[in-house]
Amino acid sequence: MPARAARRPQPPSGEFGLIRSLQQRFARPDRDVLCGIGDDTAVLRTSSAEQTLITTDLLAEGVHFDLRSSSFEDIGYRAAMANLSDIAAMGGVPRFLLVALAVPATCSGLQIGRLYRGIMQAAAPYHVRLVGGDTSSSRQGLFLSITLTGTTRPGRALLRSGARAGDLLYVTGTLGDSHAGLSLMTTHRRFRRRLRLSEVRFLLGRHHRPTARVAEGQWLASQGFATAAIDLSDGLSGDVRHICEESGVGVIIDAASLPLSPACLAFAQAARLTPERLALTGGEDYELLFTVPRAKQERFTRMAARTPFRFTRIGEVTAKREGLRLHEVTGARRPLPALSYEHFLRPSTT
Ligand code: ADP
Ligand code: MG
Repeated sequence: MPARAARRPQPPSGEFGLIRSLQQRFARPDRDVLCGIGDDTAVLRTSSAEQTLITTDLLAEGVHFDLRSSSFEDIGYRAAMANLSDIAAMGGVPRFLLVALAVPATCSGLQIGRLYRGIMQAAAPYHVRLVGGDTSSSRQGLFLSITLTGTTRPGRALLRSGARAGDLLYVTGTLGDSHAGLSLMTTHRRFRRRLRLSEVRFLLGRHHRPTARVAEGQWLASQGFATAAIDLSDGLSGDVRHICEESGVGVIIDAASLPLSPACLAFAQAARLTPERLALTGGEDYELLFTVPRAKQERFTRMAARTPFRFTRIGEVTAKREGLRLHEVTGARRPLPALSYEHFLRPSTT
């Protein structure tokens, strides 16, 4: 609706302001909507045995991917992974997917076939089935939207809203790798020759082929360890804010404990970047950020040691009035910088 859009002002204070205003205007209580706008997926009451999760993500050419540096397979794979990651953040089991496409005249049928190959490669390990979608032409650029459903046992979904002051803050895997990989294709290309080939391959792989932490999320939900969880799509310093807002708490993050891969450290050193900053601001790692009550810490640590999963404690949940803080490597404490990716605002890191 271009005419209406022209009369309207800019979207209210960025992507998240827009989402909040939509939530205020349209969200209505419904006994079957257990969680609506505001979490990684919606949670719907569909039967007494299980609850349904549903999530959708849109990738736009030039915003989320660049056809000069990503293959069609990789774009499909990443799009599916972004959705799988949202189901992982709820501790759910992914089930069915739908794919909507707007295809410019410059794309061939063969290329769209490759896009689907990437989607199905990502979905196959989880036995997720493609059950529908929609197809359109596009005047400019390729658009790809995937909708994914999943299930959880009643009451077991990991919401963003359950964190309490005193809980401990954890992440899965390592942080900053995907952004380092993206930088090696764009702004920091020239630093490739200062890294080992294996390090370059690892970082590019973490960008093109991220891993949603589905098994970790399911384990956390089934054991009842996590009080809140979110997946890291925009970057830790931005995404932790969603847990704080939804739970009504503050947080302190310990920069020295942020988990970094050897390849990311090598990249940071070569590019003279602070590795902790990469870990805080880099997007699209698709790791899980979650909180565990202090009383469960010992059992959590003992049980986690028996799994193949990597969990790192990176901080603590505090009272809301203490705000969001960073305990620097130097020992200084300061407000957590807001540096992650937000649509409609000028990204400061990408
Ligand atoms: P994520 O990064 O986990 O995919 P988003 O930041 O995209 O989450 O979205 C946050 C919440 O806002 C989700 O619950 C999502 O369903 C909702 N949301 C995002 N965009 C819209 C929209 N245009 N209309 C309604 N709800 C939206
Ligand atoms: Mg998410």
